[in-house]
Parts: sequence; C-alpha cells; structure tokens
Amino acid sequence: MAFVTWEDSAACKGINTNLFFDEYETKPEVAKNTDAFCLSCPVKNQCLYDGIKNQESGVRGAVYLNKGGYSKPFNKHKDRATASALQAQVTAFKQAVAMEEALD
Ligand code: SF4
Repeated sequence: MAFVTWEDSAACKGINTNLFFDEYETKPEVAKNTDAFCLSCPVKNQCLYDGIKNQESGVRGAVYLNKGGYSKPFNKHKDRATASALQAQVTAFKQAVAMEEALD
C-alpha cells in the first residue's frame, strides 16, 4: 500500500530545482517569481516546516533557508511586509520544532 505524503501535492513536483537554489541566488526576477509560485503552493507550510526541521538550505515555502534558518542575504528582494511575516513564521516554526524535539 502506497502512502500519500505532502510532497505528492507539491506545486514544484517534477520541475527544475535549480530555480530553488542557484538561479534564485543570482537572479532577482527568478527569486520573485519563485516566491509567488511557492506562496500559491498548497503545501507551503509543510514544506517550510520540513525545511526548518531538517536544517535545509534553499527555497521552502517562499523562504530561502540557510541550514534551516531565514537567510537575510537571499531574501533581501522581498518587500518589508512579506519579509517580516515570513521571518515571524520561521520563528514560530522553529519554536514548534524545538517543542516537538523536546517531546521525543
Ligand atoms: S512551497 Fe515551493 S518549494 Fe515547497 S513544495 Fe511548494 S512549490 Fe515546492
């Protein structure tokens, strides 16, 4: 029996992952378009949480993570309100990950 995971519903399933790393880091227009794409993804919260929990680097839920943390350099193209909201979300998810790990 096959289990369905959140990754099965990812908007980016099967697309070029360079958009979430190299091109995002070097091309602001790619970064902005990728952010918009991720913000419309049905599993953006699960994706960001998973990226924080597993200390990933690259784009997760419209946030460029550096080892699971909010990367200021690679998110600097975001407008102030969006950056502030996403940083707050990263902080909340980090706290949730810490609580989850404390209960293990
Ligand atoms: S939020 Fe972005 S990186 Fe994450 S699954 Fe969705 S499209 Fe992919």
